[in-house]
Amino acid sequence: MKEISIWKDTVNETNYQKLNEDKKVDVLIIGGGITGISTLYNLKDSNLKVILVEQNRLGMSVTGNSTGKLSYLQNDLLDKIRKCHNDEIASKYLKSQRHAIRMIKDTIKKENIDCDLEKVDSYLYTNKDNEIKKMEDLVKFLNNNGIETKNINNDIVDSKYMISVSDTYLFHPIKFIYGLIKNIKFPIYEQTSIKNITKEEDYYIAYTDKYKIKAQWIVMASHYPYFNLPYLFPIKSSLEKSYLSASKKDIDKISLISYSNPFISIRSYKDYLIYLSNSHTINKDTFDLENYQELMRKLNVLDVAPDYVWSNIDIITNDGIPYIGKIDDKLLIGTGYNTWGLASGFICGKILSDILLDKENSYIELFNPKRKGSLTILSGIKDAINSVDGYIKGYLDKNDNILYDKKDGKDVIIYDDGKEKHIVYQHCPHLGCKLLFNEIEKTWDCPCHGSRFDLDGKCISAPANKDITYK
Ligand SMILES: Cc1cc2nc3c(=O)[nH]c(=O)nc-3n(C[C@H](O)[C@H](O)[C@H](O)COP(=O)(O)OP(=O)(O)OC[C@H]3O[C@@H](n4cnc5c(N)ncnc54)[C@H](O)[C@@H]3O)c2cc1C
Repeated sequence: MKEISIWKDTVNETNYQKLNEDKKVDVLIIGGGITGISTLYNLKDSNLKVILVEQNRLGMSVTGNSTGKLSYLQNDLLDKIRKCHNDEIASKYLKSQRHAIRMIKDTIKKENIDCDLEKVDSYLYTNKDNEIKKMEDLVKFLNNNGIETKNINNDIVDSKYMISVSDTYLFHPIKFIYGLIKNIKFPIYEQTSIKNITKEEDYYIAYTDKYKIKAQWIVMASHYPYFNLPYLFPIKSSLEKSYLSASKKDIDKISLISYSNPFISIRSYKDYLIYLSNSHTINKDTFDLENYQELMRKLNVLDVAPDYVWSNIDIITNDGIPYIGKIDDKLLIGTGYNTWGLASGFICGKILSDILLDKENSYIELFNPKRKGSLTILSGIKDAINSVDGYIKGYLDKNDNILYDKKDGKDVIIYDDGKEKHIVYQHCPHLGCKLLFNEIEKTWDCPCHGSRFDLDGKCISAPANKDITYK
């Protein structure tokens, strides 16, 4: 079994050089996932001077760990938006997702991108009696928005009510973004991490370890923004994590999800069954082991063995709508996709490029990151408690191989894998929370905002942008 996503294992990594000098540009894009690359793609015919910098390699983070579905039937998300806002706003969101899927399909055709695109009906189901009424209500909402639904049966899951919609797709997310950069003239720099941004009179300066990038505009496409105040991201969102698997199985083409938690997401890819089960919110109660074991139990019931297992984390917004747009004068952001960021990330690229090029875009208001209703006092308090708890107390691992110590006056953790000792600093460089050891993936994970580090302390997932290796 490989501990890597099937998408990452079926492409060759890109190999762009590191930034090796100071730069002066019109637009700096930070992050090479679907958001950053789509923004770059949408600017490709402009006269602006644009560069993109990526901390690791393109597409290898959240985008490359997704399930690669393009669907507007997104669990109970439309109902969350209807509840937090109203039917009109939910209709606009639904329209944006269908629009994004059409745009992706047209782009794949126009750019001749080979990304294993397949048209498939998407299924949504529940096995809970108390959700049947909610799903019937959702069907009415979809029908009122001109979407035809069908009632169906499928025995791959135990369900009490299941519907399907058409005009949805499956693809290989990394091959798609590789296809987008094929004909782009703008420079891309990999293994180049932005550590800090300052605002000067009418421009920004972004700092790497060694170099400065002076930019008129910055597009923050780093998934979780690594700065906080005054934008309050930690209290405007939470993080959701799942384990996924891919197993060889002779199955028909399929795309299926459950209405609510415990989430199940299933899709076919060539002769593999991709299976996601059980999400959990990242906080002090880590459910990694439980959820991993539950995934293994479900695969066992299906009588399949995993060839690939990996995990993924996405940002959940309080009102179900992503944050796309201006958060400062010339600082743009695209994040908070509620586990549906392939379509939203692509349309984000179009919205942000339209803002940059001073063009109209009918979705700007919907996704406005400063909108009312995105910040609730309750969720703010909950997240603040989690963060403060993580900062002050930490959640000490009860693992015989782990020793907490002090070296040169700093808190360190020593992990003994039986062959050698790995020493890392105990606190996440993002906001100082104490790190937890992830038994399954052998990584150090931040329970507050999802940063991750390998055994020797190399940062493998933002928002942290520094290693924790003890030196
Ligand atoms: C389990 C799971 C399954 C999912 N499946 C689907 C699906 O089927 N369909 C769907 O539509 N969505 C899905 N999603 C959601 C989707 O994958 C994400 O919303 C989307 O990929 C986020 O893209 P991104 O570009 O914002 O982030 P990323 O892909 O993470 O890109 C951000 C990039 O920024 C870089 N970066 C970070 N900090 C810095 C820095 N300081 N300097 C330079 N670079 C930096 C990172 O290295 C990274 O490469 C899923 C999510 C989860 C958790």
